[in-house]
Amino acid sequence: MKDIILIAPPAAGKGTQAKLLEEKYSIPHISTGDLLRDAINIDSEIADEITKKISKGEFVNDEIVLDLLIKRLEMSDCDDGYILDGFPRNLKQAELYNNYLKSKNKDLGIAILINLDKKIGKQRISTRLSCPNCGRIYNLNDEKLQPKEENKCDLCNSLLIKRSDDNAEVYENRFNKYIIDTEPIINYYRNKGILKIVDGNQDKNIIHQQLIEIIKISNR
Ligand code: AMP
Repeated sequence: MKDIILIAPPAAGKGTQAKLLEEKYSIPHISTGDLLRDAINIDSEIADEITKKISKGEFVNDEIVLDLLIKRLEMSDCDDGYILDGFPRNLKQAELYNNYLKSKNKDLGIAILINLDKKIGKQRISTRLSCPNCGRIYNLNDEKLQPKEENKCDLCNSLLIKRSDDNAEVYENRFNKYIIDTEPIINYYRNKGILKIVDGNQDKNIIHQQLIEIIKISNR
């Protein structure tokens, strides 16, 4: 199974789609946002830097992110493929990741861009809830994305939270960072011949089906 890199502006449904793919293919969903949020409680040396950057919608230092990511990728459950969500976020990270894969004799896999209009992303973010335990994303404004029981995760029953960076002001920063820093990696992967594109304005089940089709064709 080829490794999957999901690229998308904030609130495009990357996390939701990654979770669905994780369930479908039994390969881990690796979100660098989750790795960083977990590291805040575990590693006090880097906790301040991470908290500051996340709260402003800025990027955490590349070395910190890469270090956490590589530790995760070295775990045995990644041997049969994985879904990367939120990484790489800029060209430097794309290059560092490329070098890492080369050192392991692995190829790049597939990069899938889920596109979304800024206006829709901003609307979604204000009603988005996340599970701090398993990472599942909910949205109170969308019938299909509401939790079955109010404020509780359908999967693990944990109390849902609103992330502190899920607000209109920080969204503006996160979206601008996406345009300036993350969009260049779209061309980077296009030039490597591994880029596929999906329209994120569609229903989540339709997007899921399109992703399955892309993954099927890419693994032939
Ligand atoms: P996410 O959960 O992907 O929305 O990420 C939340 C926040 O974590 C981002 O706004 C960044 O502050 C930080 N972050 C996540 N992934 C990265 C990354 N690859 N590089 C730098 N910062 C990141």
